[in-house]
Amino acid sequence: MDDEAREHPLARLVRAAERAAERARRTEDLGRSATRDTLREFVEQRFKGRKLVLASNREPYVHAWKGGAITWFRAAGGMSIALDSMASACGAAWVCHGSGDADFAVAGGSGRVRVPPDRPTYTLRRLALSRAEERGYYDGFSNAALWPLCHVSYVRPRFHHPDWLTYQAVNARFAEAIAEEAPPGAVVFLQDYHLALVGRLLKRLRPDLTSVLFWHIPWPNPEIFRICPYKEEVLDGLLGNDILGFHLRYHADNFMETVGLELESQLDWDGLSVARGGHRTRVRSYPISVDFDAIRRQADAPAAGEAARVLRRVHGLEDLKVGLGVDRLDYTKGIPERLEALGRLFEARPEWQGRFTFVQIGVPSRTHLEDYQAVVADIERRCEELNARLAQGRWKPVLLLKGHQDFDALVPWYRLADLCVVSSLHDGMNLVAKEYVAASGENGGVLLLSPFTGAARELEQALSVNPYDIESFAQAFARALDMPLEEQAARMRRMRSRVSTRNIYAWAEDLCRDVVDLAENHDLEGETKP
Ligand code: UDP
Repeated sequence: MDDEAREHPLARLVRAAERAAERARRTEDLGRSATRDTLREFVEQRFKGRKLVLASNREPYVHAWKGGAITWFRAAGGMSIALDSMASACGAAWVCHGSGDADFAVAGGSGRVRVPPDRPTYTLRRLALSRAEERGYYDGFSNAALWPLCHVSYVRPRFHHPDWLTYQAVNARFAEAIAEEAPPGAVVFLQDYHLALVGRLLKRLRPDLTSVLFWHIPWPNPEIFRICPYKEEVLDGLLGNDILGFHLRYHADNFMETVGLELESQLDWDGLSVARGGHRTRVRSYPISVDFDAIRRQADAPAAGEAARVLRRVHGLEDLKVGLGVDRLDYTKGIPERLEALGRLFEARPEWQGRFTFVQIGVPSRTHLEDYQAVVADIERRCEELNARLAQGRWKPVLLLKGHQDFDALVPWYRLADLCVVSSLHDGMNLVAKEYVAASGENGGVLLLSPFTGAARELEQALSVNPYDIESFAQAFARALDMPLEEQAARMRRMRSRVSTRNIYAWAEDLCRDVVDLAENHDLEGETKP
């Protein structure tokens, strides 16, 4: 570690204050909330015809066979909508894994297809991955090694050498495809931990490109990261990028400390960057968010109110208080702990039996992995036990709704829920927390939020729940159920104000501004100077 640079806590404080002022200025500059249209305008103006190439594991549009015909659908999530908007604004190319069963029937041998399918503005370049490639790169190194390595959830990362080899090979395929799609001087945006090695490979293939990688999951402290047998290659791969983005300054600091311990490099703690081999990587934080206005409009529409009434009727929730959890069934989400706290609530406060039901929407994911099969079985068993122990007549303490729901179907749940629980053991951001705030309206609703999520740094008016402390978790459930409406509304107003200003488009604009500034510098200087 660069001890000298770390000896100036005052300088670090000043820099932190400057950065906070810069963030505030950016928000004020906007003078309004960023929107899909303002992001489009911004990208059109600032990119000035410069090409953008995005790359992610998941594709934004999927083609699938249905009843003998090819249909298409859009990948869910505010994030993919913001990137889609950026891609459209500058006629981007987007390299991704083509996972739909009709993807190559429309894309042909080149893997290229114009999207959105109904009004094409940019090109998708789909990569066909074999089942063996998916197993090694996606299930294996990405999700059985990097995911548990970066999340403190006491699930042991599994490093299999063949998975690592496949991960390297698939990252190389991504890098080659990006290099083919990128004209000189293009900006490359890489999404997440599936593509950790692409930045370095691109620097070798195409030093004229400027690349940014956004790491959506936490970065652990150096003690944890050092167990990774391929740590030097992963860190070096990431340092091939010009900007490395995390949700939190805390994760950026962890990354810098890890690099300081593991690699020959120069750390600049004031400017938050790493220089290695004549190249400098800026390490920044950009807390991701949601499309607040779109969610608010959807939740306020009469159709959502009607859908909420139907849900109450169909699920026997009329006249009950309703709690909600919306998660992938992942061991990092703290769902068993949530169910334990729920059981404790009904023991400690039996007057809530018959008056409060907790609805858990759970999406099975990464089902090829044993750790995921185990957590699903555990959650199912706990729900069955709670219901067997406490259900009376039609009333049940917990309702487990397994399966993916379209976002449109989630909105009425957010709207009707009196409280929403996000109890992750560790989570880079957690978008469900922000979606609930956007959808729940001005009049109330209580968010119970784990301090181990990125979202907790911004949503300070949520009730904090430590998933490791079941007793106080149960008390937080009770406190939420007892909370007067005025207090709920006051807390919600402050959280809504934050999420509406720092929305997904503001996130994308901040990132674009930084990367285009660098690309312009790159044009002037050839290779960016360290
Ligand atoms: N989601 C969804 N349908 C579901 C459950 C979840 O569309 O049935 C979405 C949810 O709205 C959110 C995302 O999946 O946008 C989950 O993101 P989060 O950051 O909370 O967790 P992650 O799954 O990325 O770890």
